[in-house]
Amino acid sequence: TSSLSSAMVKAIRVHELGGPEVMKLEDVEIGEPKDGEIRVRNKAIGVNFIDVYFRQGVYKAASIPFTPGMEAVGVVTAVGPGLTGRQVGDIVAYAGFPMGAYAEEQILPAEKVVPVPSSVDPVVAASVMLKGMTAQFLLRRCFKVESGHTVLVHAAAGGVGSLLCQWANALGATVIGTVSTSEKAAQAKEDGCHHVIVSKQESFVERVAEITSGEGVEVVYDSVGKDTFQGSLECLKIRGHLVCFGQSSGAPDPVPLSALAVKSLFLTRPSLMQYTSKRDELLEAAGEVFGNIANGVLRVRVNHKYPLSQAGQAHSDLETRKTTGSIVLIPDG
Ligand code: NDP
Repeated sequence: TSSLSSAMVKAIRVHELGGPEVMKLEDVEIGEPKDGEIRVRNKAIGVNFIDVYFRQGVYKAASIPFTPGMEAVGVVTAVGPGLTGRQVGDIVAYAGFPMGAYAEEQILPAEKVVPVPSSVDPVVAASVMLKGMTAQFLLRRCFKVESGHTVLVHAAAGGVGSLLCQWANALGATVIGTVSTSEKAAQAKEDGCHHVIVSKQESFVERVAEITSGEGVEVVYDSVGKDTFQGSLECLKIRGHLVCFGQSSGAPDPVPLSALAVKSLFLTRPSLMQYTSKRDELLEAAGEVFGNIANGVLRVRVNHKYPLSQAGQAHSDLETRKTTGSIVLIPDG
C-alpha cells in the first residue's frame, strides 16, 4: 500500500555542519501528506550552491539534523486529504523552500510545485528549475535587460551563469562573461558570450573597460561576491546596476554609500524566494523557463550526474570549481 511504501525512504542527512563528508545517506520516515500537501518520489534532484551554504552553516537551517536540497522533479505518489488539482502520477517540479530534496521521496506543499510539460525531460527540468527561474528574475525583473545593453556575468560557465549568458544574448544584449579556465571559456562562448575573460589570466576590470571603450556596462550579475565585488562596481557605467546575487567566494565586505555616489549606482542583493513567493510569480517564472527550453533559447547543460549517495562528491566538485553547467543527483535504484 502507499503507506507501507512511504514508511522509510533514503535521504541525505546533515547531523553536524561542515565539509561534504557530513552528508550521510540514511533511512528516514516521511509519513503521509497532510492538508494541502503532496508526496513526491523524486526522479532527479538539482544541486545548487545554496545547498553548500546550508551544509556549511553560512545560511542557517531551521533545525539539525536536516536534509539539504531545494530543487527536484518527481512523480506524485500521494495527495493530502481534500486536495484538488494534483493527482497521483503527475510529474511536478519544485524549487526553493522547504528544504529536503536530497531524498528518494519528500512531502511538499502543493502550492510550491508546478507541473512539468511532457516535452521536458524530468532530469533537465530538475537541473533548471531553480537556476532557470533565477536567470528569469535577474534578467527580466531585478534589472530588465534590453537589446543594446552590455551585461557582465561572473562565473559564466556555472549553472546559473550558463543560463544567464544564453538568455541575455537572446534578449539582444552584448554579453561579457568571466570564467577561471580556458575550458570554461569555450563553453561560455558557445552559450552566447560575445567576450569571455579568463579571470586568472587577465584583469576583468581592465578588459571590460577596453571592450566598452571606457564606458562600462549597464549591469553586472555577480554571484562570486567577495573576490569580484569591488571590481564589479568599477565595471559599471554611470547609473549602472550591481546585482549581487551570490557569494561563491565569500560574503563581500561592507560597502559605504559613497562608493555608489561616485557614479549614482544601484546595488541590490536579491533572492529568488522574494521573486517567486506569490503563486502567479512562480508560475510565470517557471513558464518562461520551460518556454525558453521549448523554443531553443535555453540549452540546458546537465553536465554532471551523481547517484544520491554521492551527494558529498557533487558538493566537493562544485565547491572546488570543477563543474560547469548543472549538477543533478539521481536517487539510487
Ligand atoms: P555555479 O555552477 O555557478 O558554481 C560556482 C562557480 O563560481 C564556480 O564554478 C566558479 O566558476 C565560481 N567561483 C568563483 N570563485 C569561487 C570560489 N572561491 N569558490 C567556488 N566557486 C567560485 O553554482 P550555481 O549555479 O549553483 O550558483 C551560482 C551562484 O548563484 C551561487 O553563488 C549561488 O548562491 C547563487 N544563486 C543565488 C540565487 C538567489 O536567489 N540570490 C539563486 C540561485 C543561485 P569559475 O571557476 O569559472 O570562476
